[in-house]
Amino acid sequence: MVFTERGGKIRLDRICADPPKAVTKEKARERFARLGAELFDLQDEMWGAKVNSVLIVLQGRDSAGKDGAIKHVAGCLNPRGVRVHSFGVPTDEEREHDFLWRVHRHAPRLGEFAIFNRSHYEDVLVVRVRDLVPRKLWRERYGHIADFEELLAEHGTIVLKYFLHISKKEQKERLLERERDPRAAWKLNPNDWKEREYWDDYTEAYEDAISRTAAPHAPWIVVPANAKWYRNLVVAESIVEALRGHRKAWSRTLGDMGRKRRAELAGARSARRAGRERRRED
Ligand code: AMP
Ligand code: MG
Repeated sequence: MVFTERGGKIRLDRICADPPKAVTKEKARERFARLGAELFDLQDEMWGAKVNSVLIVLQGRDSAGKDGAIKHVAGCLNPRGVRVHSFGVPTDEEREHDFLWRVHRHAPRLGEFAIFNRSHYEDVLVVRVRDLVPRKLWRERYGHIADFEELLAEHGTIVLKYFLHISKKEQKERLLERERDPRAAWKLNPNDWKEREYWDDYTEAYEDAISRTAAPHAPWIVVPANAKWYRNLVVAESIVEALRGHRKAWSRTLGDMGRKRRAELAGARSARRAGRERRRED
């Protein structure tokens, strides 16, 4: 489900975290492969045209699949043009700056993708739920975030924000599975169980964050993420859809650039020819 307007009431408990019955895993995998190929081509054009960039913000509760989504989506891209940044507990240096400082420096440059594993939204999520700064301070941040994303959009950044939506039951199964599976146990973090106790507070914080910062130039996409294969499909599909609309403009820019480069080359060649003829005449 896509949210593009500020101020609407959002009820996450009304949004199903399971994939729709009509979509099978096999069909989703086929479709994902096709989208991946299209994404690769789109990225190539965007890289060349250098008039847009993409910022993908991945948010979600512990074990919602942020890392998995990055693995699959970034796996479709040319590594040359994508950077992934994870935002954890702020360092002392980060804390000594305003909350957007550590984020802004990783905003993508023209032609590039930036993928954020957590983001500036933590400053109105964990910070709000765990009371890390006074209410007066975090309440102001929705406006700062909206302005920041508007600034990025004005610079040509296509901003896409994802909430990977899992059910409470699914999270419990995933956390227990991590404990059982020796290959996944490295991800265990006792804090995940602690955070789980604040489930409803996080729901409210996410609902507010989404409703206060959704915009046509920076939409929120709530992704049913109980099934990993469906989550990957929704993320890939929405990125491709957002980029497709720019393809014509990129092709035009690349066409103009190609003509200009050819003219430059022809000019350089004729100057060289003229030089050679002048030397012969001398
Ligand atoms: P992980 O994503 O599992 O590596 O965990 C990163 C941790 O950093 C999470 O528990 C986040 O809640 C926490 N975190 C990220 N940003 C902030 C922030 N601005 N303030 C406090 N904690 C944060
Ligand atoms: Mg974690």
